[in-house]
Amino acid sequence: LSVTDSLTGLYVRRYFFERFQEELERSRSYHLSFAFLMIDIDDFKRCNDTYGHLVGDAVLKDAARIMKENVREIDLVSRYGGEEFALVLPETDRDGAVHAAERIRARIEEHVFKAYDEKLKVTISAGLSFFPADGEKAAELVEKADKALYRAKRSGKNLVCVYGK
Ligand code: GH3
Ligand code: MG
Ligand code: MG
Repeated sequence: LSVTDSLTGLYVRRYFFERFQEELERSRSYHLSFAFLMIDIDDFKRCNDTYGHLVGDAVLKDAARIMKENVREIDLVSRYGGEEFALVLPETDRDGAVHAAERIRARIEEHVFKAYDEKLKVTISAGLSFFPADGEKAAELVEKADKALYRAKRSGKNLVCVYGK
């Protein structure tokens, strides 16, 4: 069973959940808070349709690199699904997490993706939830970050939304 995804080098979903669970237990024991982020590439289907799947793959790889470069070494970054990413930021409060998510959003917005002689622009949307305020279990944190992400999409995309705010 693999730990990292072959395209992006990020943690695969299954391994991410193991580490996420460890972080939940550690945070519970030491009364620490942490942030959970769901990130989804905006209009990625159109990107594939316009430039092709190989360019789409290169965009995913580059976007993953930008995410990794803009968080700390201790943060967990995973490829959650096709063009969806999930992150755990240990010992991070609301302000810190919004700051990190906004930094990733802005870095991706300003980046010119280059692949197979194509140059293109991409944006992401993010939804955030917090342990323990929004839930004590992984599933609750995922559900709430997903709701915030859905709101970011409905509100026009290229946005960071916090659950319950
Ligand atoms: P939204 O802004 O609402 O997120 O729109 P979207 O087009 O990004 O969302 P949708 O879920 O409709 O499409 C996701 C697309 O991501 C469709 C799928 O083909 C593409 N995709 C998923 N995994 C991969 C992959 O590994 N490589 C490539 N190139 N495309 C992928
Ligand atoms: Mg998606
Ligand atoms: Mg998408």
